[in-house]
Amino acid sequence: MVPLDPTPAQAELLRSYCGASRFAYNWAVARAKENIDTRRDERRAGIDEANLTKSLSWSPWSLTPLWNSVKDDVAPWHRDVTKHAFRSGVTNAAVALKNYHESKKGVRKGEPFGFPKFKNRYSKLSVTFTETGTQGGWFAEDSRHVRLILPLRATDPRIARRRVQLQWIHSTESVSRFKKKVTCGEWTIQAVTVSFVGGRWQASFSVRQFVAPAPSMIHHLKPLVGIDLGVKHLATLTSPVIGLSDVSGYVENPRHLDAQLVRLAKLNRQHSRCVKGSKNRAKVLKRRQRLYGRITRTRDLHLHRLTTTLAGGFETVVIEDLRVAGMVKKSKKNTTNELRRSILDAGWSELRRQLTYKTEDRGHRVIVVNRFYPSSKKCSQCGETKAKLALSDRVFECGKCGMSLDRDVNAARNIRDEGIRLLANEESTVAGHQPETLNADSRDRETDALRCDGGDRYQSRTTQPV
Ligand SMILES: [Zn+2]
Repeated sequence: MVPLDPTPAQAELLRSYCGASRFAYNWAVARAKENIDTRRDERRAGIDEANLTKSLSWSPWSLTPLWNSVKDDVAPWHRDVTKHAFRSGVTNAAVALKNYHESKKGVRKGEPFGFPKFKNRYSKLSVTFTETGTQGGWFAEDSRHVRLILPLRATDPRIARRRVQLQWIHSTESVSRFKKKVTCGEWTIQAVTVSFVGGRWQASFSVRQFVAPAPSMIHHLKPLVGIDLGVKHLATLTSPVIGLSDVSGYVENPRHLDAQLVRLAKLNRQHSRCVKGSKNRAKVLKRRQRLYGRITRTRDLHLHRLTTTLAGGFETVVIEDLRVAGMVKKSKKNTTNELRRSILDAGWSELRRQLTYKTEDRGHRVIVVNRFYPSSKKCSQCGETKAKLALSDRVFECGKCGMSLDRDVNAARNIRDEGIRLLANEESTVAGHQPETLNADSRDRETDALRCDGGDRYQSRTTQPV
């Protein structure tokens, strides 16, 4: 992820790219909907299956040619914008339709969801470029600029001027380490997503990585660590790590959102007082976006520090499988808004995601303990399981052996022991390369294709701040 600092002209052009992507997305979703509706109406009218309107294929390979055949009619202005923007929109729509189809069939994990919604001007601004012919050409000599694809042909005479301006977009952080990885061939850029997140533009590079054999640093490694995730402490480790946790293994929860709540409330008040459509309102809105962006970035940075240390320091990391989406459900009783906010602020899913790919990069592993394993209700000493343990009971007291231990430490030990057991049985659910959501994620397809590729050790993923 590279933070961008475009000039006003560049930002205007980026916005037009995102708009074009949105246009193509809505076009594709509308075609799919139209097709479904026509077929339904025809069925109702009593036309038999063989004579129905042909069903529309939702794959990007069918939708993109269809788009190309009609673009002169539906978007006569399309030559003003790069074709990659439209391609990005059509591909995203195809992914959304595929996800909807899988969810409907019940083969997709997670909550079921409905037909893709149309995007409007309040939707997230984002566009993906997949043309990556120029690997080294993405970065300027000074490592402070990122190149972006430009419209190849433009009818608007102003575009030519912009084209020069957009040649390089300035980035606010150095990209030298990233550039080095690309130029030496360790990473191959697959796609670049430019989006407006947290009040600023950023570019996310999706790269295919050549995984070098893990360096032998076995003597530094500890074999196994069990982690209990929580809100009071972000994590409780069974083996304390210097500089990361205290001697008892507690990793502090920084509560990034809580720290900014006062400031956020102030901005919300200001925002509601401003006249709608006024310049001041836009200014306050931008400030609020940036504050949210800052909270997200600090949280990510903190999680990265935690997961890098854990993935690098232990051969096996055992964590619990938490269903965050279910925990923060509004319908769930005994959950206050404060607790929901704290759970989301802690970022457990992101922690698990980072831990999974970082351990894989290093040839280590993550073991995920089943979510129904009673980690907090079980005595880590004698194995006695309590029927109930209130969330307010911070100390676990065993009725059988009399052990008294902090609740989180007890849970972490149980998770560690369960991990050891699973490891011994080899029935472990090793966390695979499957993200929680499959939106716009080409990983599975990528690795499948690569497996036939002579077994090169490649994998693909979105880059993290380096
Ligand atoms: Zn006991």
